[in-house]
Amino acid sequence: MKVLVAGAGGFIGGHLTQKLEAEGFDVVAIDIKSKEEWFILPKNSDANVADLRLLDMATKYSKGVSWIFNLACDMGGMGFIESNKAKCMESVLINTHLLQSARTNQVEKFFFSSSACVYASFHQNSLNIQPLKEADAYPADPEDGYGWEKLFSERMCRHFQEDYGIQTRVARYHNVYGPHGTYHGGREKVPAAACRKIINAVNEGNYEIEIWGDGKQLRSFTYIDDCIEGTLKLMNSNFSEPLNIGSSQMISINDLYKTIIAVKGLEENKFSFKHNLEAPQGVRGRSSDNKKCKEILKWEPNVSISTGIEKTYDWIQKEINS
Ligand code: NAD
Repeated sequence: MKVLVAGAGGFIGGHLTQKLEAEGFDVVAIDIKSKEEWFILPKNSDANVADLRLLDMATKYSKGVSWIFNLACDMGGMGFIESNKAKCMESVLINTHLLQSARTNQVEKFFFSSSACVYASFHQNSLNIQPLKEADAYPADPEDGYGWEKLFSERMCRHFQEDYGIQTRVARYHNVYGPHGTYHGGREKVPAAACRKIINAVNEGNYEIEIWGDGKQLRSFTYIDDCIEGTLKLMNSNFSEPLNIGSSQMISINDLYKTIIAVKGLEENKFSFKHNLEAPQGVRGRSSDNKKCKEILKWEPNVSISTGIEKTYDWIQKEINS
């Protein structure tokens, strides 16, 4: 079966393409980045470079495909999305034009990568939070910019299914991390940034590390293998409402740093942490309620943070030290 992966040069799109190729799919891989910047190159197909905000490109590349996976988005960690709201909202063009071209080219199924950033902020403003269940996205008060684009695009998927009969699937990913992702340059997310800071501290012998916020903010982090498994299970299901794909293992940012230090056998007392209270830090607490995920997919993400972060650290260390 021929499938299109939009954002195939990115972190999740790269892993997804690799998995789909291993399972025998014929993948049309597309990204706006030049080939040299792709995290993982497809094995059996070309690395097509195109701007999918353009309807012509979306229409051209979706001709003859049965499924579209939309993992393309101009995004990054909290530092990026808080200061690039217009850029984040422009990704609405990617999803809109991919949906329109799916209609034109009679594509059977369409996957959209949404985010936990769609959840209303009033559910996430204390350390005493309940895990987020799918219904908590309404009444709407998502992350400004990035979260609004995701929420709007989710609804667009829903209406394209209702009005035009395209089967749509929507995953709300929660903080995905792992090897072959961004770890420097300003778009990186907490797990990769934490690994990089610790690796640099060890390399340079300077053990003072800056943490954004007071470090007590709570998150759950989803390892990439779980993300890909959940994505394919959702795509193969009959469920067309948005579904959480996220770990329910909650951890504070301070404890994330301590976990990395512990799994790598480093001496914690060598490190000193400086908390920057002016830096972007996002919501106070967030994790995934997986009741619906378990009900629909008979599965939930299960890679522990200590297992996943060690693999991530080892990959980033190799990159930095090579
Ligand atoms: P990523 O930045 O590594 O990958 C996104 C890719 O999209 C990039 O390679 C980028 O070049 C490409 N892209 C951007 N604009 C494009 C355009 N106009 N045309 C073609 N390609 C374009 O990000 P990721 O972590 O792999 O995220 C993939 C998807 O999952 C995104 O939609 C993101 O919002 C969503 N998501 C990710 C996370 C996470 O923690 N990584 C969490 C929630 C949701």
